[in-house]
Amino acid sequence: MPRPASHDRAKKNSKHARERELFYKYLTHKGLKRTKQRDVVLELFLSNDTHLTAEDIYQKLKHKHSDIGYSTVYRTLKLLKECDLAREVYFADGRMYFEHQFEQPHHDHMVCTQCGHTIEFFNATIEALQDRVAEENGFTPTRHTMVIFGLCRKCRDKGP
Ligand SMILES: [Zn+2]
Ligand SMILES: [Zn+2]
Ligand SMILES: [Zn+2]
Repeated sequence: MPRPASHDRAKKNSKHARERELFYKYLTHKGLKRTKQRDVVLELFLSNDTHLTAEDIYQKLKHKHSDIGYSTVYRTLKLLKECDLAREVYFADGRMYFEHQFEQPHHDHMVCTQCGHTIEFFNATIEALQDRVAEENGFTPTRHTMVIFGLCRKCRDKGP
């Protein structure tokens, strides 16, 4: 049974509230002030579910918020990463993307090299196999990223 959308929205709101709280606490811990600029970057990050680079975020903000420079965006994202709200992922284009980390279960990615579309997936068998391979090499894995490159369904259907 699909849950009503309002339920999901309420869940998301309370998650965002916890993310905000964590960020403000982290700022205090670092002796940094809560500024309007940092708040704007935080809110844009929270309201986006996709993978964004610092440049993407800067481009989205620059018209409405001319007082926010690229370096503010970048530094705020770094803070989000330091307090575990965001994580960095690298795709085929070598750019650094930020995605949600807070209460986000582990997942890996498929990236279309034609249009840049990303698919998130989780496969327990692959995860277990990775652990086994590590074990066989006397290696203790602490984290990993896996990216599979190729063509998405839409680009594949378009043909060469
Ligand atoms: Zn994985
Ligand atoms: Zn594609
Ligand atoms: Zn992702």
